[in-house]
Amino acid sequence: MSEEASENKHISRTTCVVPGTLYLVATPIGNLADITQRATEVLAQVDIIAAEDTRHSQRLLSCLGIKSKLVAYHEHNEDRMTGRLLDELAAGKSVALISDAGTPLISDPGYRLVTQGHDQAVSIVPVPGVCAAIAALSAAGLATDAFAFEGFPPAKQGARLHFLEPLALQPRTMIFYISCHRIIETLKDMCTVFGEKRRATFARELTKTFETIKRATLSDLVAWVESDDNQRKGEIVLVVEGKAAEAADGTQLDHYLSVLLAELPVKQAVKLTVKLTGENKNDIYKRALELKDS
Ligand code: SAM
Repeated sequence: MSEEASENKHISRTTCVVPGTLYLVATPIGNLADITQRATEVLAQVDIIAAEDTRHSQRLLSCLGIKSKLVAYHEHNEDRMTGRLLDELAAGKSVALISDAGTPLISDPGYRLVTQGHDQAVSIVPVPGVCAAIAALSAAGLATDAFAFEGFPPAKQGARLHFLEPLALQPRTMIFYISCHRIIETLKDMCTVFGEKRRATFARELTKTFETIKRATLSDLVAWVESDDNQRKGEIVLVVEGKAAEAADGTQLDHYLSVLLAELPVKQAVKLTVKLTGENKNDIYKRALELKDS
């Protein structure tokens, strides 16, 4: 055990870290009381904590009375630091990876370290805890039996529409991380692509003082966010209902075709619509030409 780790001896423990192991430790997304006992114990004992932003993480570690050695691991030094951390692990040091908030690797750095760690047979141990996506999903009031995490939609509208369009037919509940600066334009784009009546749950500032959770149709959410500046502040997860898997009626068929025709040649759009709806190919082709002409 290193000098720094031995300084943390006062933290009671039932967990013992194993030399040469990489721990992926979830930290709170707002409420510090959400840190788990096991996370605290692991962070106190490891030789090295690799953090996305050392200054930010120092505050959490100070609150917990943890003095383990802290190094920076973020998107700008990921290449260099991955090699260095793997060398430390190979030398028998224990390493904990943390991000600014929540679970590492979920829209946060760490992918390279974990994949290369597997390649080098490093023992990798998750220390689970909070994840904004899962917290929002659990409170969303939308189907949870099958869901897809879609991360951050692109910032530019063209790219964002391109990203959303293939999701219009996704039957699973979808979870998006959305910057508060782009919440209105993103909700409006979702109205265009998913339809105004699609339900979604807006989850803002989870676990914090101004936590807000609201389920409504996409068009109602646009109106509500536009009417209240506060809803454009802080951190936001949007959970969107999946497209119901029921047989396509005429309106749905037209919606599928319009979305696909905007991106693909007629032949391909028809082929995909046949696959999605099971409807007659000639009928769909005829309708595609009508829509194209109109
Ligand atoms: N790794 C984190 C996790 O496990 O949730 C996510 C990191 S990602 C860089 C940051 C995004 O997560 C924010 O832009 C927001 O969409 C979401 N997020 C983080 N904390 C949140 C909170 N307290 N309430 C709502 N969304 C949050």
